[in-house]
Amino acid sequence: MENLIYLDHAATTAADSRVVEEMLPFFTEEYFNPSSVYTPSRNVRNKLDEAREKVAGLLGARHPNEVVFTSGGTESDNYFIKGTAWALKEKGRHIITSVVEHHAVLHAFGNLERQGFETTYLPVDRYGMVNPEDLEKAVRPDTILVSIMTANNEVGTIMPIKEMSEILKPRGIVFHTDAVQAVGSLDINMQDLGVDGLSLSAHKFYGPKGVGALLIRKTVKPVPLLHGGSQERHRRAGTENVPGIMGMAKALELAIAEREERNREITRLRDMLIKGIMEKIPDTILTGHPEKRLPNSASFCFRYVEGESILLMLDMQHVAASSGSACTSGSLNPSHVLLSMGLPHEIAHGSVRLTLGKENTEDQIKKVLEMLPPIIKRLRDMSPLYAAEKSPTVKEAC
Ligand SMILES: *Cc1c(COP(=O)(O)O)cnc(C)c1O
Repeated sequence: MENLIYLDHAATTAADSRVVEEMLPFFTEEYFNPSSVYTPSRNVRNKLDEAREKVAGLLGARHPNEVVFTSGGTESDNYFIKGTAWALKEKGRHIITSVVEHHAVLHAFGNLERQGFETTYLPVDRYGMVNPEDLEKAVRPDTILVSIMTANNEVGTIMPIKEMSEILKPRGIVFHTDAVQAVGSLDINMQDLGVDGLSLSAHKFYGPKGVGALLIRKTVKPVPLLHGGSQERHRRAGTENVPGIMGMAKALELAIAEREERNREITRLRDMLIKGIMEKIPDTILTGHPEKRLPNSASFCFRYVEGESILLMLDMQHVAASSGSACTSGSLNPSHVLLSMGLPHEIAHGSVRLTLGKENTEDQIKKVLEMLPPIIKRLRDMSPLYAAEKSPTVKEAC
């Protein structure tokens, strides 16, 4: 693992050692159920309340009770979207999202569609950005819910959430944002964004996996997904993941305190990577918005090659990266995000996503910049597509 160059921080991050330190006592000495009556339990309950206050304060919730702890981004998205649609179904059946959402949102919408809700999927421009004017045109008197991600996980594009909330607020339409990629990386404040729901997940900002939170505006009452005990004020039954929640609160605190410092270095390395790749490798497209993108995100399409082949060759040289494409039941489909941005299938197939993190070094980026051009060249030399395009003789022979 020591020589691994990890460039897939949009998929997950390593827990910070300070976060693990914070969690450890809650597995052993402070293992008590926060719902029990004895003193050691009440102490754990107090620590849980402090974590809730911390998360609420750091993300601009109006009250700690607006924070519900969940098992992660997927649950937070599902709970808010399905729960709100069910709660408001007598008011209207129309719900809106975008074509570039994470599957946790898209498939929740698909599920609601099969239950009789009407869905609108807003398009994006070539940078993966939703246009607020399209939202304005899509809203109807029976629209009850809109969900648009704060920043995209495949191409890093940052969405105009505040502009969209200004369209929705006067109409009384509930607005949710999947901020899983944004929290920790951008300055995120629920009230400033003007949203009624906001999802986050600890493992995307150097916290543990399997724990997240959903910020819910007091005025919205999503129907719970999980029924059981009265935890989380009847909104999410089940004994709280105390170590996970303590770790998440710590990770969030660190991410926000160190955000500028982390982003300065991450952005410097990311820009070095983008510049190097664009200079060294011809026929390369930088995907996503040129400026309005997450500080750690670099994504490309290399023409005439398969993204998956690039990933395998990078893996052989101990570089962990992703294509951002969905791999379903053995068949390789290009990413729904890239296709929505208007990239043709054959180009979208050549996608590679490199997402940086706080432990990457300049030396690692230099290594990748040395490694990648020969990999692409080798794959292109084997590609009949490339030969047909680049060599007039082969073209004629065809
Ligand atoms: C990772 C991710 C999720 C899912 O979060 P989990 O905690 O892994 O369930 C949802 N949305 C976005 C944008 C993500 O990047």
